[in-house]
Amino acid sequence: MNKEINSFEIVNGLIDSSVKKLNLGRAVYDLLSQPQRVLTVTIPVQMDDGSVKMYTAYRSQHNNALGPYKGGIRFHQDVDLDEVKALSSWMTLKCAVLNVPYGGGKGGVIVNPKELSFGEMERLCRGYVRAIAPVLGSEVDVPAPDVGTNGQVMAWMMDEFSRFKNHNEFGVITGKPVILGGSRGRIEATSRGCVFTIREAARAIGLKLKDATVVVQGFGNVGAIAARLLKDDGCRILAVSDTSGAIYNPRGLDISTLEEHKACTGSVKDFPGSQSITNEELLALSCDILVPAALENQITGANAAQIKAKIVAEGANGPTTPEADRILAARNIMVLPDVLANAGGVTVSYFEWVQNNSGYYWCEDEVNERLERKMVEAFNEVYCLYKKRKDVDMRGAAYMVAISHLAEAMRIRGWLGTQMYSDAKCEFKLA
Ligand code: GLU
Repeated sequence: MNKEINSFEIVNGLIDSSVKKLNLGRAVYDLLSQPQRVLTVTIPVQMDDGSVKMYTAYRSQHNNALGPYKGGIRFHQDVDLDEVKALSSWMTLKCAVLNVPYGGGKGGVIVNPKELSFGEMERLCRGYVRAIAPVLGSEVDVPAPDVGTNGQVMAWMMDEFSRFKNHNEFGVITGKPVILGGSRGRIEATSRGCVFTIREAARAIGLKLKDATVVVQGFGNVGAIAARLLKDDGCRILAVSDTSGAIYNPRGLDISTLEEHKACTGSVKDFPGSQSITNEELLALSCDILVPAALENQITGANAAQIKAKIVAEGANGPTTPEADRILAARNIMVLPDVLANAGGVTVSYFEWVQNNSGYYWCEDEVNERLERKMVEAFNEVYCLYKKRKDVDMRGAAYMVAISHLAEAMRIRGWLGTQMYSDAKCEFKLA
């Protein structure tokens, strides 16, 4: 991430202004501006050469007013505690926007997963779970994949936790392979959800998806599948990027051949028929839809004025800074905020957990239909508030929706003191 910009300060600034706009008491801000619990652990991992390496890792449990802590585990060399805390706050907000009965959490391990062998990776995953097992559980805290982790990682983690508990506990983690209680449609869920919100936003602003031009930053799980789904909807994908660089073809990239190219060569670089461009050039391309699907703080005060898209759909968490938000809003560019646009992943994680808890598994169509319903409902709730109030952008509206749900839950739980009752509509009568 861009280390000059602190994501935890950003998310707290946004929470602060939403709490004020909603006229909620200070206690709401005080509760939502800090995680309820943060665990820092050191994991010893035996490397293939017999040496032992120590890895620092975190789990931030932000808020569980609405249900168990929920959120992915990131393996990345730049992970730091403030980033993990910010990501856990975003999870709380995301679940609250979607009306998914979860709180928010996030894990992170400081490691470059590309440098580990298969065996070293397995030992690190099992070590991480052993270290945080006392605060995990299907009713306590339910991790999932994030940047640098995948279904295999979830399988090892579920297996380790199940050993610790002496029984299979599939519901302790989501994003598992289907054979181990994973949900059909989970791999595509973040991208599919993002495409549903793009479709709704396009309809709202009168943009036709057929022949719309798209630029995607990041060609990992979220970006690559979003590009494929948007191409299936008739869009032309002009450019994509990954850590190796960006590629551009004004006639449109063939996404399935590009996915094969990336699988064979490890990157999008040198894709036949494309020209290579810089990341800055990619963000500044003329297009209808820009999907930042990489890391935080990519669209900043320094480059927001160059963005030409009509819709920016945040596949990543935190890709746009508040300064950039202001510039984009002034230029009438609609930003679909992360807590809405990338919430498809945690929504299908919730479906996975429901399937694990009931022991009955759904077909992919059922998963996708339920996901669509949830995404469209959440989009409409946020969009209506955005239209009604003239003083917020879509992010401001999404935060207001989330925080009003959270404040209501925290108030009724009794976490906000009795003052909150005086101006609220709540009546307490003894039977
Ligand atoms: N890591 C994903 C996110 O940031 C998914 C979280 C989950 O499924 O719990 O939303």
